[in-house]
Amino acid sequence: MEIISLPALADNYIFLLHDSQKKIAAVIDPADHKPVISKLEQLQADLVAIFNTHHHHDHIGANQKLIEKFPNLKVYGGIEDRGRIPGQQVFLQDGDRVEFANRTAKVFFVPGHTRAHIAYYFPPVTPDETGELFCGDTLFAGGCGRLFEGTPAQMVNSLSKLRALPDHTRVWCAHEYTLNNLRFALTVDSQNNDLQKRFQEVTAMRQRQEATVPSLLGVEKKTNPFLRWDNYSLQLTAQTHDPVQTFAIIRKMKDQF
Ligand code: ZN
Ligand code: FE
Repeated sequence: MEIISLPALADNYIFLLHDSQKKIAAVIDPADHKPVISKLEQLQADLVAIFNTHHHHDHIGANQKLIEKFPNLKVYGGIEDRGRIPGQQVFLQDGDRVEFANRTAKVFFVPGHTRAHIAYYFPPVTPDETGELFCGDTLFAGGCGRLFEGTPAQMVNSLSKLRALPDHTRVWCAHEYTLNNLRFALTVDSQNNDLQKRFQEVTAMRQRQEATVPSLLGVEKKTNPFLRWDNYSLQLTAQTHDPVQTFAIIRKMKDQF
């Protein structure tokens, strides 16, 4: 399974999963049909599935156009998103499994950004490979999604599920927000050497106009303030020892950043 990142809109990424032997593809969160269709034409691949993480327009915007062009494709999304995802046929719950190209992804229910958000995780096939996590707007490189429909406690619970995955998991989040996220992270976790180093690396990557997605979950665990609610430095910043309160205060600070 090959994974192709397609930049779309201002700062979205659409991910195309490609099986070159069967000449089929699936797409995660198609924001725009144009880059998807031109890549499919180039690959001469048939689109068999749309995997949506949540109902926001920059994630489902191309569903209708892609269904028109590939009427046999299947549209997957979270069960709580029933009625909000155009063309949805498969209604997924926590622990469900979906298949593509001889790979099986596990579904995580991760409410917080929206009340229905799900993530898809393909575990590695062999131990030395990476796992692949498609987490939409729940976990970002260096950040996390805003709480539009969920509470801090829900988001901490959701992010805990993702944080429990192996370090060697690639994080395919839906936006290129990394540099700004790390700029904020430095204001709440200023003594973190791994974070300082990552900020330098990401600054250089963005100067070269390189994508910072995917990132590695092991790096996120060490540098992303929204996975570090139980870390002493962040609790000091938030002036509380309560993990959920720590997360809530840091999230509020980010909203105002
Ligand atoms: Zn969103
Ligand atoms: Fe989004």
